[in-house]
Amino acid sequence: MVLGMKFDKNNFSEWFGKVLEEADVIDLRYPVKGMPIYKAWGFSILRNCFKMLEGELNASSHQEMLFPLLIPEDQFAREGEHIKGFEAEVLWATHSGLEKMDRKLAVRPTSETVMYPMFALWVRTHADLPLRVHQTCCVYRQDTKMTRPLIRGREIYWNEAHCAHATAEDAESQVKKALEIYGDFYKKLCVPFKALKRPDFDKFPGAEYSIALDVVMPDGRVLQAATAHNLGQNFSKVYGITFDDEKGAKQHAFQTTYGVSMRCLAVVVALHGDDKGLVLPPAIAPVQVIIIPILSKDEKQPVLEKCRQIKKQLIAEGVRVDIDERETRPGDKYYYWEARGVPVRIELGPRDLQNGQAVIATRLGEKKQVKQEQVVEETRKALAQTEKKLFENASEKLGQQTSKATTLEQLKQTIEEKGGFAKAGWCGSQECAETIEKQTTAEIRGKEKEEKAKCIACGKQGSTVYIAKAY
Ligand SMILES: [Zn+2]
Repeated sequence: MVLGMKFDKNNFSEWFGKVLEEADVIDLRYPVKGMPIYKAWGFSILRNCFKMLEGELNASSHQEMLFPLLIPEDQFAREGEHIKGFEAEVLWATHSGLEKMDRKLAVRPTSETVMYPMFALWVRTHADLPLRVHQTCCVYRQDTKMTRPLIRGREIYWNEAHCAHATAEDAESQVKKALEIYGDFYKKLCVPFKALKRPDFDKFPGAEYSIALDVVMPDGRVLQAATAHNLGQNFSKVYGITFDDEKGAKQHAFQTTYGVSMRCLAVVVALHGDDKGLVLPPAIAPVQVIIIPILSKDEKQPVLEKCRQIKKQLIAEGVRVDIDERETRPGDKYYYWEARGVPVRIELGPRDLQNGQAVIATRLGEKKQVKQEQVVEETRKALAQTEKKLFENASEKLGQQTSKATTLEQLKQTIEEKGGFAKAGWCGSQECAETIEKQTTAEIRGKEKEEKAKCIACGKQGSTVYIAKAY
């Protein structure tokens, strides 16, 4: 570990890789492309994210299950559009030991075709609906684009939810509910986003429509950080998910699916981190508060005892807290925990002990002397302030990264100079989308709401869309 190492965020791509490595988030040296090792600190952050999300899904009537990794070829290939969207990226299991298998098995790139034949067995009558299932697992995609740590990999750790509903209205409102859950989730990660309805040519293969949460990364490019899809009856017709309605007539179920991947970790690292390393939102920090005893030879024991007492008090309050009792210089410890992004640090030395005080420092640079009897309360405040400030800073940045364009030339200039989102009119034709992409290198990410505007490419009536360069 290089202590006191500085990271230069102006060079985002290099900064990102360095921080992931130095802060013990992932190790990229595993010899299969796009498959990182999540190290203890990184995996703990990621699991804290997913535990929060899983808890939220369970609390809103989703059942957590675990489905198989492999899909029989015929079962996988039944929905035409879906298979077309994924076939170029699928990894196949073709051999059983030395024998070639009669029926090859697809390694799941996503789980519709794993789950829906089972849904067909489980759903019988309207009383079985809605059925809401979710699982946290890895999916596999042999993406041909350049892999990027936590952003574009071949082994994707994610949580996917899949539902079946009795009516189109129920499916519609489930998509809204999913976006609310994801909105709350990203709020806890202090991450602002735009929820955009993707153009038809960019929707999920087999969906009626797709809505995605897009986040602007520090280099001005946007990253899709979550998606929700309304599948209509496409899959239920193919996989035979039917039910008897209240009048006893057979109906096909309406379906929805939505997911969040390890990209949530990429977004947290990218948006909040600085030249000292990670900055973690308190909700997901494996250690929310680190206590650093300032040790001198004579008064080591009393200082340590006081620190341990504070630790106990904070644990009793439900705070994730640790003491760094190592025999290294306090400055080295500061750097170490700063690089890991711990939101709050408490310092306590012999003089503080005498004066009945302690120092509380936040990862965002605020520092304050407090009375020992107020340490718990002040720590709580510091954590809450850090969460608030992180979200405010990120929201302000998103505001600066969103602009408007009324001509292609202006759009091109904005995208080049500022990056981020540009709002402009688009008529909805694929031809104009291609013109826009060719001339500006940016793509149409979708609509936030219905708002009339003239197409920036052809001048016809259309609506306002968000345009950006994307990962
Ligand atoms: Zn047009």
